[in-house]
Amino acid sequence: MLFSNRNPRMDFMEFARICEQLEGTSGRLEMIGIISRILPDLPEEELPIFIRFVMGRIFPDWSPEKLGIGPNLLYEGIAYVAGIHRDDVVQVINRTGDVGRAVEELLAQKEQTSFFSEALTLTDVYRDLSSIAASEGKKSQREKLLLVRRLFTNAKPLEGRYLSRIMLEDLRIGVGEGNVREAIARASAVDPSLVEHAFQAENDLGKVALLAREGSDRLRDVRIELFHPVRMMLAQQGTITGAIADNGAMAAEYKYDGSRFQFHKKGDRCRMYSRKLEDVTAALPDVTEILLAATTHDVIFDGEVIAISGGKPMPFQSVLRRFRRKYGIDTMREEIRMVPNVFDLLYLDGETLIDLPFSERRKKLEGVLSAHLAPEIVSDDPGEIDRMYRDALAAGHEGLMLKVPGSPYTPGVRGKNWIKIKPDVDTLDLAVIGADWGEGKRAHLFGSFLLACQDQGELVPLSRVATGFSDEQLQEIFALLKDRVISQQGKEVRFEPGMVIEVGYSEIQKSPNYESGFALRFPRFIRLRDDKSIDEIETLDGIRERYRRQGGNHGA
Ligand code: AMP
Repeated sequence: MLFSNRNPRMDFMEFARICEQLEGTSGRLEMIGIISRILPDLPEEELPIFIRFVMGRIFPDWSPEKLGIGPNLLYEGIAYVAGIHRDDVVQVINRTGDVGRAVEELLAQKEQTSFFSEALTLTDVYRDLSSIAASEGKKSQREKLLLVRRLFTNAKPLEGRYLSRIMLEDLRIGVGEGNVREAIARASAVDPSLVEHAFQAENDLGKVALLAREGSDRLRDVRIELFHPVRMMLAQQGTITGAIADNGAMAAEYKYDGSRFQFHKKGDRCRMYSRKLEDVTAALPDVTEILLAATTHDVIFDGEVIAISGGKPMPFQSVLRRFRRKYGIDTMREEIRMVPNVFDLLYLDGETLIDLPFSERRKKLEGVLSAHLAPEIVSDDPGEIDRMYRDALAAGHEGLMLKVPGSPYTPGVRGKNWIKIKPDVDTLDLAVIGADWGEGKRAHLFGSFLLACQDQGELVPLSRVATGFSDEQLQEIFALLKDRVISQQGKEVRFEPGMVIEVGYSEIQKSPNYESGFALRFPRFIRLRDDKSIDEIETLDGIRERYRRQGGNHGA
């Protein structure tokens, strides 16, 4: 046993050793076994911290707490502790290809010359990270830097490897939510489906692990809490005839080309969350006012907000700009009219509704919402649904969403119960992982971007994109990326992954130039998808499938 009952405080060193062991383990079952053997011995206050840390997270997914430090601040912190210049830190990162290994190496060099440091415990690290997150206002960057320095001063080399990766919320040991859910179920001898159920409502596996200790009934009883945003249910691409053939009658709604929101209301208090579960209430006072006035009940609504000008939906980019807005909200609000469309109800007056069939949730929704309800038809006639699809496109919407009337709301799941119907376009959502500086009048901006898809949680380079950007878009992207630079070599920069963009292409080719083994022919920028997170980008399997479908013989 790695951890003994007699010493209930887990040292951070012990946690780092567990991570090292997991990093060297590739078998899923073995990983689940390692984690499930540790959980029973952890005291109550450490269990949720351990669970989140081992997935590379710090706070519950629903929590508004964010660490708020970029890689730059981390480099400054480690440079100070190692007694070297920031540029030298970047050099070590470039050489090792990993911030964690670089920090480990730098702390090992320092260790030879210093004698004193305090042992860190798991709770110490969590407490310090919480203080970093809590630091706000003018002096916050300085305060955060001091705390980062203090943590690195007390960290041993191996601890530094995982501490820095936790700070960047990318632990790289291959432990995903699925493994942790299984480990919790095994450690508490409960059914994995109950762990899944509780997680869907609670949205924090740390808390779920605590509840699992109390037994199956406790997990079964978990209810959604107001002001703890729930992950959004997602859709799969499909066809009208296919959906009807599989399910019979389907509920059809317009697919609005805006931004997803979740609206929580209790009495006259309300909050609005984005698809990434960020609190966007302050950026959208007009939308929250509309929704607050549209019901007298305590609710959680799921919907899409669009921007309207001259009666027509405006490009999706204008909506996202509003979601990001921190200042000048009043002027923006006059320029762009935001209109919410509500299509689901997850909670009503103390009752969690996600396990009810969609048709029943819809009925309740119609009973409590006086305006801004998304129109819906239920039909098993492909012709009727096709007419609605054409109306949707003619009115400037993206297409249709077809929903299985009998299906529950499954947070975070991209299942077959929601089918999106939109015109065939060859576009991909990919992560921006690097760029080259531009040339000529664009020399002060990034010009071409390196894009990656994902494969089992790893980002794999797939293509570059350099066309399709307006000057304004390049400036906007530069402003968003400039603080995410991790390293630079000549004209090439690498970013801490986080930005997602949608690109169009003419075909997928085999290529030795990128690690994925593929490349895009004629890639062009379509739009920023900063409503999407990095784990929603295209997978390598998806790319292989697209390649196969296009005939598979377009190789270079
Ligand atoms: P996609 O982003 O292409 O995977 O499509 C799914 C997204 O469509 C959802 O996350 C919503 O933001 C959006 N959407 C627009 N209209 C609807 C609707 N009526 N029901 C559900 N999602 C919708």
